[in-house]
Amino acid sequence: MKRKETQSIRTQTERTKFGEHSTPIYMTSSYVFDNAEHMRAMFAGEEEGNVYSRYSNPTVDEFIDKIALMEGAESGWATASGMAAVFSTFAALLNAGDEVLSSRSVFGSTHKLFTQIFPKWNIKTNYVSATNLDEWEDAITPNTKILYLETPSNPALDIIDLAKAKEIAEKHNLIYVVDNCFTTPVIQNPIEFGADLVIHSATKYIDGQGRGLGGAIVGRQHLIDEIEAFARHSGPCLSPFNAWMLSKSLETLQIRMERHSENALEIAKRLQNHKQVQWVKYPFLENHPAYEIAQKQMSMGGGIVTFGINGGLEAGKNFLDSLKMFSLTANLGDSRTIATHPASTTHSKLSEEERQKVGITQGLIRLSIGLENVEDIWEDIEQALG
Ligand SMILES: *Cc1c(COP(=O)(O)O)cnc(C)c1O
Repeated sequence: MKRKETQSIRTQTERTKFGEHSTPIYMTSSYVFDNAEHMRAMFAGEEEGNVYSRYSNPTVDEFIDKIALMEGAESGWATASGMAAVFSTFAALLNAGDEVLSSRSVFGSTHKLFTQIFPKWNIKTNYVSATNLDEWEDAITPNTKILYLETPSNPALDIIDLAKAKEIAEKHNLIYVVDNCFTTPVIQNPIEFGADLVIHSATKYIDGQGRGLGGAIVGRQHLIDEIEAFARHSGPCLSPFNAWMLSKSLETLQIRMERHSENALEIAKRLQNHKQVQWVKYPFLENHPAYEIAQKQMSMGGGIVTFGINGGLEAGKNFLDSLKMFSLTANLGDSRTIATHPASTTHSKLSEEERQKVGITQGLIRLSIGLENVEDIWEDIEQALG
């Protein structure tokens, strides 16, 4: 079997008669049939092939086949965004009355689904601490059906032991789902540690240049079949154009993640020695509370670094205002370095107690370290801290 870099480059849809090197964008909503009998057979599912692009499309297939291979998954389904992947997974697999067990710090829109949308269908979520797996079993009820987590968490960068979570999922017969957006298929493969499904927002590192949205769900065939049955008719399908762009981006994912991680580790180390900085968190810094676990399940540290700035809320806002090169934007995983201040933006509506529960202090700054020269990245941080 080919190695990951090669899979991401050499997994390709069959060439057309024109012999193109790069895969075409199959920008078509439907497909024609040879004759009435062919059409009948296709609709009956007796013959393989494409019928309508809400169900399947060659460019979209190439993208999802690559992600499935890179994650070591049996199968996959591509979606229009990361949230379409998250929503489709729960909507397909849960019934009214079911419950989700989830690590507390999940992506903002996932939190909104858990707390505002799913309760409309009598689906309840029980949150547990990312750092204390001992409390997880107590939160499981006879109705719990899915165990869901993100690691490293956003923005606290807590690391959850994927193998330990598997033991809990297995003991209680739960479907084990991991949002692997922060690490990408290059750095961490939750299926190796027992996950049943892995979700990606391809909008982040997989695109890597902030151009478009996309998502993916990969994992066990029987679960993907259920998700497909839901998604074919509810319509969260990925556009062929975005699939083409994302599939091209996958070809450089390995080298990009290496540079993101290298730059981020260097910045984390330099921040540690700066007098305006209270603390620094990065999975591959030896002082990370779960450093050993990170080493076990991640091949690199990734591109996200968080730190606490002296002076709290005002100092955090001042730091952002003083940056000259960094982008102030809600995205992450871009080739351009991005800074955010969660306490005054994404998490400003939470109470202080809620913020503490997900590890967000007033002075927490989240950096998504880009691919610029690391000296230029550091210069901007240094002058803004000054
Ligand atoms: C961005 C993100 C999502 C949602 O992805 P979209 O493509 O923006 O819909 C889900 N999970 C995590 C961890 C994310 O960072």
